[in-house]
Amino acid sequence: MTALEGRERLRLAVPNKGRLVEPTVELLRDAGLVFGENERSLVARDRNFDLDILFVRTNDVIEFVGDGVADLGITGEDLLTETGAELPRLRSLGYGQCRLAAAVPADSALRELDDLAGVRVATAHPETTRRFFAAAGIDVDVIPISGAVEVAPRLGLAEAIVDLVSTGSTLVMNGLRPIADVLTSEAILVANPTAVVQRAGEIDSIDTMLSAVIAARGRKYLMMNAPAVRLRDLEMLLPGLESPSVIPLAHEGMIAIHAVVGADDVWGLLPRLKSAGASGILVLPIEKIVP
Ligand code: AMP
Repeated sequence: MTALEGRERLRLAVPNKGRLVEPTVELLRDAGLVFGENERSLVARDRNFDLDILFVRTNDVIEFVGDGVADLGITGEDLLTETGAELPRLRSLGYGQCRLAAAVPADSALRELDDLAGVRVATAHPETTRRFFAAAGIDVDVIPISGAVEVAPRLGLAEAIVDLVSTGSTLVMNGLRPIADVLTSEAILVANPTAVVQRAGEIDSIDTMLSAVIAARGRKYLMMNAPAVRLRDLEMLLPGLESPSVIPLAHEGMIAIHAVVGADDVWGLLPRLKSAGASGILVLPIEKIVP
């Protein structure tokens, strides 16, 4: 019997430690899953969906999903690339963004990628690093280490590193200078290849719930009043999900306009809507969007 057979509840493996834990738990809760906080140690039974959430090491998520111990998993794209596992990637989740950067000490004579030929490169992502430099035709000596990659040059372990960064400030703080990006990454939802076929319906439900939250996070709901004669001007400013809803108001000649807009566009839009005649503008969060 394989790990997938004879089991009714769907299983989702998620990180139990590290920087992906909080945003992952927040995403699952925002999606409407209900599970106890105290159960986070190992398995949390979801109360409103036939789903068990397995909290495992971020690095082990891929193995759990690959072996069929879990049907779905949430992990960093960088980790999937590193293992080379060919798991179906269902969705990028909009958090955990980072890049794998090649960097050298700030005072190093090495300036560009080509300068790294023949040097030692320390990294916790040896396979990705090897593949990257091989594809670039640059022969480097990859030194695999499991942590504290940024101190490797200071310890004399390597002349360069390949490490994960989000803003790059940690590199600067450690006296390092980035010279190239090896990979960009964010948290992703992956599936077991067999489960994705055999349990397509349930997996689709989970994926839809997550995608509805992710879509909503990037958008806001705008409500405003305006003179009906200004509708055309206002509509031109509001390229939302679809055309805005227009509702007549009790006051003759006045309308209410409701529209969904990109969250990043809101602050630019507000003054323009005002000058185009809108008043009483409300900006509301959206919980979920299912297109
Ligand atoms: P952690 O368990 O905290 O070491 O991080 C696990 C995953 O978080 C990494 O494999 C990346 O996918 C992601 N991540 C996002 N931003 C960063 C960052 N600045 N440094 C390291 N990992 C990051």
